[in-house]
Amino acid sequence: MQAFLSVDDLAIAFPRPDGERETVVDGVSFSVSEGEAVGVVGESGSGKTLSALAAIGLLPVSGRVVGGRIRLAGQDVLAASEETMCSLRGRAVGYLSQETGGALNPVRTVGFQVGEAARLHLGLTRRAAQERVVALLSEVGLEEPLRVARSYPHQLSGGQRQRALLAAALAADPQLLIADEPTSALDTITQARLLGLLAELRARRKLGLLLISHDLGLVARMVERVVVLHAGETVEEAPVAALLAKPAHPFTRQLLTAAHTGEESGGTRGWGGEGRRGGALEWGACRFAPRCPEAMAVCWRARPALEAVGAQHAVRCFLHHSAEEPHA
Ligand code: SF4
Repeated sequence: MQAFLSVDDLAIAFPRPDGERETVVDGVSFSVSEGEAVGVVGESGSGKTLSALAAIGLLPVSGRVVGGRIRLAGQDVLAASEETMCSLRGRAVGYLSQETGGALNPVRTVGFQVGEAARLHLGLTRRAAQERVVALLSEVGLEEPLRVARSYPHQLSGGQRQRALLAAALAADPQLLIADEPTSALDTITQARLLGLLAELRARRKLGLLLISHDLGLVARMVERVVVLHAGETVEEAPVAALLAKPAHPFTRQLLTAAHTGEESGGTRGWGGEGRRGGALEWGACRFAPRCPEAMAVCWRARPALEAVGAQHAVRCFLHHSAEEPHA
């Protein structure tokens, strides 16, 4: 099946104060087929959100895609005009960010903000857009949708605001929803309800889902395939069952242990700290080597490639392919 969204060997750079560019993502690959649910898992700073934003043409202004390919709904994202990208954002893909209190405009009603996407992408009249807003707010499980539509964001709870953001992301009936840490600002009960709602919406709308999270346990319950990112690159990709039964990359094993014990996997230690600038990315070594209990000599002098180890299962690690043929 052809991927609805495919990101292949993506590289993203930002300017440094000294005028040089710093590459913060280099080697991210993932894809989502129509109606499929895929999880992207990694620590803070691993490139999850930047890669998702690049996929929909919404990188921060100083960021540049400096390598790789992105295709969305048959379009080459890196060559598409802003007009094409505007149309794709909304009709092809909706983006649900973490509700941080600033994701909605505080001086506009919720109804206006949800309706804006419907008016923009579907060309609805004001009245038709109002009716659609009420239907969308109701679909995402908000009681008294008319009252919610007339409310300002500060008059709603965090869980209600997140549902309103979800309604806005779905306003133009996209085929794919990108949900970026959608529950991390919510309490446990509200989180569980929102995840239940996402599963219902997927089934009802035949919606594809790209779920981004630091929590492998949460992602594994929601998706069919998982992509693990570490230090700006994809290190493993596999169907959920294969990943849980036989994780191939030492970092994935650490994430699984963390998911079972409820502990952090070690933060960005060895990467965001001493490993980053002038570190593994620039030496052409395995970026996980500073933290890897199984590191070998070759891991410090060559960068492993992402290679298949089974059906739909790929890993970037010298434990699984020949260290005799290092990939710089
Ligand atoms: Fe560990 Fe080497 Fe595999 Fe990197 S390539 S994850 S250092 S064993």
